[in-house]
Amino acid sequence: MESETSAEEPQAPSRPGSEERKERVLHTRVPAVLERELKRFAGNLRVPVSNLVRAILEDAVAAADRATVNVENQLLSAVKQLEVERERIKKKVLTDPLEHAVAFQAVTLSKPASCARCQCDLPRGSTAQLVIGSEPTTERLFACTACATSSSSEEA
Ligand SMILES: [Zn+2]
Repeated sequence: MESETSAEEPQAPSRPGSEERKERVLHTRVPAVLERELKRFAGNLRVPVSNLVRAILEDAVAAADRATVNVENQLLSAVKQLEVERERIKKKVLTDPLEHAVAFQAVTLSKPASCARCQCDLPRGSTAQLVIGSEPTTERLFACTACATSSSSEEA
């Protein structure tokens, strides 16, 4: 039974107020029962555990006050909800982020971003594909050209 949580963040100058979409690696110790549950669930879905954890955390962070999120507590309560929310989380993990794209618009990025599907880095100044979804959303998604091309050639 581990209950210690540690987070390591790379030293980076951060400007207060700037909301950079920077990916960080979190190392966290989780209770054995939680790990088992996460692995089992991820195994069922045939996705990496890290993808599952990310989906759960994104969900939790979206719902909670960003400043007071406790990673372990969020994970624990998320796992308790797994049975209830299994279908919803499953859908979230397995959903292609470009599934509802109706068009892609080539844009020049003024801020670094990452591809919504393959997570590759899209550096500032590079050309990315702005994802135009079928429903209005405040979330801006970008895709790399490879993902945009493969997505638009697949008829669902
Ligand atoms: Zn991509």
